[in-house]
Amino acid sequence: MAEPAPPTLQMRLDKGALAENWRALHRMSGAAEAGAAVKADAYGLGVDHVVPALCKAGARHFFVAHWSEVPQVLAHVEARYISVLHGPMQAADAAYARAVGVRPVLNTPNQVKLWLEGGGGPCHLMVDTGINRLGIAVDEWADPALGRLDIEILMSHLASADEDSALNAVQLGRFHNAARSIPAKYHSLANSAGIALGNEYAFDLTRPGLSLYGGVPRPQLGNVISQVAYPQAAIIQRRNLSAGDSVGYNAKFTATSNMNVGIVSVGYADGYLRSWAGGGALRSGEAILPLLGQVSMDMVVVDLAAAPHLKEGDWVDIPYDLPQASRISALSQYELLTVLGSRYRR
Ligand SMILES: *Cc1c(COP(=O)(O)O)cnc(C)c1O
Repeated sequence: MAEPAPPTLQMRLDKGALAENWRALHRMSGAAEAGAAVKADAYGLGVDHVVPALCKAGARHFFVAHWSEVPQVLAHVEARYISVLHGPMQAADAAYARAVGVRPVLNTPNQVKLWLEGGGGPCHLMVDTGINRLGIAVDEWADPALGRLDIEILMSHLASADEDSALNAVQLGRFHNAARSIPAKYHSLANSAGIALGNEYAFDLTRPGLSLYGGVPRPQLGNVISQVAYPQAAIIQRRNLSAGDSVGYNAKFTATSNMNVGIVSVGYADGYLRSWAGGGALRSGEAILPLLGQVSMDMVVVDLAAAPHLKEGDWVDIPYDLPQASRISALSQYELLTVLGSRYRR
């Protein structure tokens, strides 16, 4: 069978930077061990690329959100080190966890009941300390059912670790209270930003996600964390505009003089959303290629004035330093990673 040509869209992953980011977060976790959040296909970068590199760097504990995300991680990681954050919604989920050996994170009294009714076994427990998202509420911590669980990791999640918020210390205090009333072998509170709050937030295991992939949620991480994802797209047409010619849907840009422009093979279906139009630009080495007009589903148009030698088939860089990209696009660093579509050759 004939194979189609590779896509005109590619993502270079700097696995050295990924490994170094994990090691840096592990060091910053002090006496605690750093795990890795790899939900949503490792924040859009690809479990099959990311997880082996993290294992090689020394990571053992991996967190996914959905049961459907388990098999891909299981190909690289021992089952008991895979945690499913959403927990079991039905008996079949609990049976699957037990059969495979992965650990459910129990988040509600119903999930606790489901787990115990299926026969129990090692599990993790999420308590809510102020984010009011998933987790056992404070007034349910005395439930005797919790005492019948075999809890490996008691965990909670910080709401505002990326800010200097009073809520951080409040959540830390409540987590200490939870640890006093609910027996567990290990404790885990900090995400990426939480690691930068200091060692008192680290406990036994930290759960970085964003910063593994180059995100900088707190300034303390700025000198420590490096970019991992480097997207590139090819120029698929060059054209000449005359004064008065408009570009793209709704003619949002009009040339005021002759211009060379490039049509580039990346669009909002690839996570390059319309919010980039306005301030966004692609690059070729040091040359800056400003976006002209709207972002289309599969294409953008850029001004080639700064790199007039570029031709059809040449690759250009999509700037993806996450803190900077976030300022320009108004997308969060998390969104910038997870919106990346499946069309990049990784
Ligand atoms: C996603 C997630 C993390 C990772 O958070 P980052 O801010 O990406 O470091 C940690 N813990 C839980 C419970 C999560 O859902």
